[in-house]
Amino acid sequence: MKAVTYYSYDDIRVENTTVPSITDHELLVKVDGCGLCGSDIMKIVQHASPPVKLGHELTGTIVEKGREVSNFAMGQRVIVAHHVPCGICHYCKHGNYSMCASFKASNIDPCGFAEYIRVPAEHVQHTTLPLPASLSAEEGSFVEPLACCVRAVRRTPLLPGDSVVVMGLGSIGLLMVQAFKAVGCVGETRRGGGGGDEGRGRLRRPGGGGHEQGNRTRATQAFPPHTAPPPPLRITRRSWRALGAINRAPTMSMLLNTVIFVYMV
Ligand SMILES: [Zn+2]
Ligand SMILES: [Zn+2]
Repeated sequence: MKAVTYYSYDDIRVENTTVPSITDHELLVKVDGCGLCGSDIMKIVQHASPPVKLGHELTGTIVEKGREVSNFAMGQRVIVAHHVPCGICHYCKHGNYSMCASFKASNIDPCGFAEYIRVPAEHVQHTTLPLPASLSAEEGSFVEPLACCVRAVRRTPLLPGDSVVVMGLGSIGLLMVQAFKAVGCVGETRRGGGGGDEGRGRLRRPGGGGHEQGNRTRATQAFPPHTAPPPPLRITRRSWRALGAINRAPTMSMLLNTVIFVYMV
């Protein structure tokens, strides 16, 4: 089979390699497609040291399954997320799963940009989902990035009347706007003055500022009222510098907002 191997930032090859073999609790999935994440691009432009796995926004079809796998069927289309948190460590208990050592250590084999992947047992158990027939492989490849956006919306302490500004209407920005709308935000999406990649999606929670009142109940249900106001955003010197760097580098934010769907043929 063919798979992408990263050697250095300017040496990324599509190579012939052997199809991974699976054990009793694992799956072999033929990749139908894989999105190119901003984090993949970051690894490349930041000259990450190998080994580096590229591609994790994937959908595929089960072509082989271990004897002990009972919750999936041969030929089933699935979405596989690449990292599995342990659920019991300090970080997991705080809900900061991406800080978990198990999360960082776990991955699919060899990577999303491969014709076939081995799905380890822990992924089969926790991060493999059936892809509904109504969704195409391209649409399915957005499940992982959309999950990141849904998590961001859930962590945003919104109250009715709050305004939400989404900076950067690339693929992730557009998903963020859709996610905010899905929980009852109303408002408009418009391009900002800077042109290029500096579009702004501005949404307002219903119930404030003269916007629609009809969705108030839905929004209130989505975000139960807080007993105390959310803590103010604390901007440290470091985060301020990072923010400045992002603002000064429109090409970088354009890169981060790029999603390319890659077919393995
Ligand atoms: Zn991603
Ligand atoms: Zn953990």
